[in-house]
Amino acid sequence: MNTQSNRERYSVEIHGIVQGVGFRPYVYGLALRHNISGWVLNSAIGVLIEIEGKAEHCAAFLRDLQPQAPRLARVDDIIVKPIALKGGRGFAIRRSRGGEKRTLISPDIGICAACLADIRDPQNRRYCYPFTNCTNCGPRFTIIRDLPYDRALTTMADFPLCDSCREEYLDPKNRRFHAQPNACADCGPRLIYADWKDGEGQGRPLELARRQIATGGIVAVKGIGGYHLVCDAKNEQACAELRRRKYRWDKPFAVMLPDSAAVRRYCCLSGAEEELLTSQRRPIVILEQLVDGEKVADAVSPGNQTLGVMLPYTPLHYLLIEGFEALVMTSANYADEPIIYEDEAAAALLHSRSDAAGVDALPRLADALLSHNRAIYRRCDDSVMLCVAENPLFIRRSRGWAPQPLQINDCGRNILALGGEQKNTFCLTRGNEAFLSQHIGDLDNPAIYTVFKQEIDFYTKMFDSEPQLIVHDLHPQYLSTLYAATEIGSLPKLVVQHHQAHFASVLAEHHLSGPAIGLIFDGTGYGEDGCLWGGEVLVGDSAGSRRAAHLLYTPLPGGERAIDEPWRMAMSCLFAAYGEEELELQAPAGLLGSDWRLLLQAMNAGVNAPLTSGMGRLFDAVAALAGIGRYVNYEGQAAVMLEQAIDVTATGAYHMELSEQNGVSLIDWRPLIRELMTDLRRGAAIGEIAARFHRGLAAFCAEMCLRLRGDSGLNTVALSGGCWQNRFLLDACRKTLTELGFQVYFNSQTPINDGGIAYGQAAVAAAKVQKGEI
Ligand SMILES: [Zn+2]
Ligand SMILES: [Zn+2]
Repeated sequence: MNTQSNRERYSVEIHGIVQGVGFRPYVYGLALRHNISGWVLNSAIGVLIEIEGKAEHCAAFLRDLQPQAPRLARVDDIIVKPIALKGGRGFAIRRSRGGEKRTLISPDIGICAACLADIRDPQNRRYCYPFTNCTNCGPRFTIIRDLPYDRALTTMADFPLCDSCREEYLDPKNRRFHAQPNACADCGPRLIYADWKDGEGQGRPLELARRQIATGGIVAVKGIGGYHLVCDAKNEQACAELRRRKYRWDKPFAVMLPDSAAVRRYCCLSGAEEELLTSQRRPIVILEQLVDGEKVADAVSPGNQTLGVMLPYTPLHYLLIEGFEALVMTSANYADEPIIYEDEAAAALLHSRSDAAGVDALPRLADALLSHNRAIYRRCDDSVMLCVAENPLFIRRSRGWAPQPLQINDCGRNILALGGEQKNTFCLTRGNEAFLSQHIGDLDNPAIYTVFKQEIDFYTKMFDSEPQLIVHDLHPQYLSTLYAATEIGSLPKLVVQHHQAHFASVLAEHHLSGPAIGLIFDGTGYGEDGCLWGGEVLVGDSAGSRRAAHLLYTPLPGGERAIDEPWRMAMSCLFAAYGEEELELQAPAGLLGSDWRLLLQAMNAGVNAPLTSGMGRLFDAVAALAGIGRYVNYEGQAAVMLEQAIDVTATGAYHMELSEQNGVSLIDWRPLIRELMTDLRRGAAIGEIAARFHRGLAAFCAEMCLRLRGDSGLNTVALSGGCWQNRFLLDACRKTLTELGFQVYFNSQTPINDGGIAYGQAAVAAAKVQKGEI
């Protein structure tokens, strides 16, 4: 019998998230099990394998390769080619190769159960070691300097492995085989403690930090993608002090609770919410607090029925939280600035900050610092999610997801989409992959704009995608528009309107190529007529749409400032509903600010009063009229308060009317305002008003879609824009439209707010290229 004739050899190329997830040891083990010889290595395009063995063994190996892959891996593509036999014995893991960069970088992954058991086991050599990790968990994206993913190209390069760690690292049967951040107390990173008064202090850093928190202090703790400010979430005084120092008055802080059992004592927790919360990606999940449940300090989430909760995701978090019921964990930054991730900047948190004139302008943010000597190479904020009827929704897609690509149609060109101005993310494409960046922030802050530029450079280099087409927003003053004008050179550029980008983001996520109805509701985005759009009904597809209807325009008195002072929008809406003579008479007591007459004059003269059709602004007006949120200090606060005020037992709904004007349907909300005012005068409760407003809106959406279906036969509805973060509205609309036989889609893999704009812009560009329009 000729055994040679039964032997085969193959080269296997695997693309996807296959580095830093234990893929090579997995391949090694699989090869041993199937009696295969050959080798595996990491290259910049992914994982390369050559296998040789009996035909049936090779077939079995190839059959099992994908289905049994490690949990954290994502195999996009396997290319198998038969090649000439080479012979040889045994299976080897070979040294990594550079070359063309096609591989994907794994996001940062929370500690796995096995590593958690290690740090809790007094017999284990990693007992209480805060930097424990393995191929199934640990930092990735935030420590990678370049590809391929190898220790030498991460911030772990400074830590030579000790003998024990090296043994694990080289043993293909070990869970830490080629775990690049592998370390132990003998060879790995160490904790560092410093306090604002005494410097380093005597004792173990972890204990000193815990004592500081226990006695009401605020500690800056170095995490995965940056520093957190941490204090005891049960300590009213500490939480209030943190607010004072951050100049952050109402916007809720996130808390870390030890486990899901603890979470259940404070909040309602559905199956989908628990799944998100306990997933290794470890986002902050916004949960409904139990009415009669345990409470954190009032200052954590003042006047708010929800609580942003996350579970520990690093060994250090687990060690830190022991003995505490709940910790506040908020990004270490000054208002609107990027999260601090460098040690020097973190050390400065212990001192008050002087302004240009040398005056102490800002108090010290932290009383102490719990840091370590493993550098963070790039910042990455915590991700934030919520669930609507068991559907996960991104408020912020960042740590745990970035830079994992989303799918997009391959149009043959690399696209760089620059995103919006607020909650900016950008999106770089390569073939059918769309790399949506981690949360960057609001670009109008100079420090954030710098990060934006740096990260774009990094992404183009890391994913080896030289942009061939730039997409930016229509707004002439956005910094992303400026960037496109000044930093890009002669590359072709495409301008995409804000709400079209929102619309396309949903269509692209769900691979919908046909025409659809888009209900795109958000605060404001620059419209094609120069007005501030935001209550938009679009009909079309990713490449383009027509504005089938929009909210009746009304002036935004004082421009952007009206966003912080919703009473201004309320005044504008009263003006529209009743006219100037009746305005003062109709206005609820205490609504109008002292300068209202001046504002009204300016508004009438068209001075600093741009016209808006923003749905978010209508929410502002209604909230202010109802007596909540006449002044707000974070974006969307009035809408959040209005949603939380809903009395679900209340009946009735306010009305809006459609009228035609130059072929566009106008959504006239003035009847709604008048009905609301009638309710107010008869002393209706806020809960009733809030319920009627939301119900009216949902009913109107249904009416609108039915009309459009009658005209066009369209049966698909896409929902996007920041207003859909409103759980009540989203759920009510989804239900009503589904009952009417519509197919309803909304963003589930990209933020439904402006954090998803960049992906939508890229989708518009890809669709236009494919249609030959550009
Ligand atoms: Zn692990
Ligand atoms: Zn070691």
